[in-house]
Amino acid sequence: MATLKLEIVTPDRKVLSEDVDYVGAPGIMGEFGILPNHVPFLSALGIGNLHYNQDGKAHYVFVSGGFAEVSHNKVTILAEVAEKATEIDSDRAKLAKERAEKRASAAKEKMDAIRNQTALKRAIMRISCKSSGLDAGTC
Ligand code: ATP
Repeated sequence: MATLKLEIVTPDRKVLSEDVDYVGAPGIMGEFGILPNHVPFLSALGIGNLHYNQDGKAHYVFVSGGFAEVSHNKVTILAEVAEKATEIDSDRAKLAKERAEKRASAAKEKMDAIRNQTALKRAIMRISCKSSGLDAGTC
């Protein structure tokens, strides 16, 4: 059966390169799913959890911003920030969430509120990514 080559890179590092059966990712217009033999496709990424299936197991990767490109059974994720669930420090994400929640009540300027909302979303999605990986037994 055909598979997909999934590559996730950030400006700092190559996060992973794996042969996988399915990729689901958080586009800015909503979640999208890619199976082998998908037509060429390009999407901007939001903040959320990418997941891929490999040998019957689900794996999770937190991504924040960037682009996804699909071509010739290759899925390239150029993310601003990405962490495999195994790499996520839950305590750090919980502290970031608490800080953002505290700032939310104090934020007065619109820009502060928007920046704080994205920080809160990153923290919430990191916690959820780690928890999904633990539930799937791949973390
Ligand atoms: P924090 O306030 O904890 O720094 P943040 O959302 O502002 O969180 P980012 O700007 O998204 O952090 O990321 C900065 C760097 O820190 C990136 O390299 C990212 O991979 C890493 N990072 C941030 N939070 C975590 C975490 N909870 N676990 C592992 N790496 C993290």
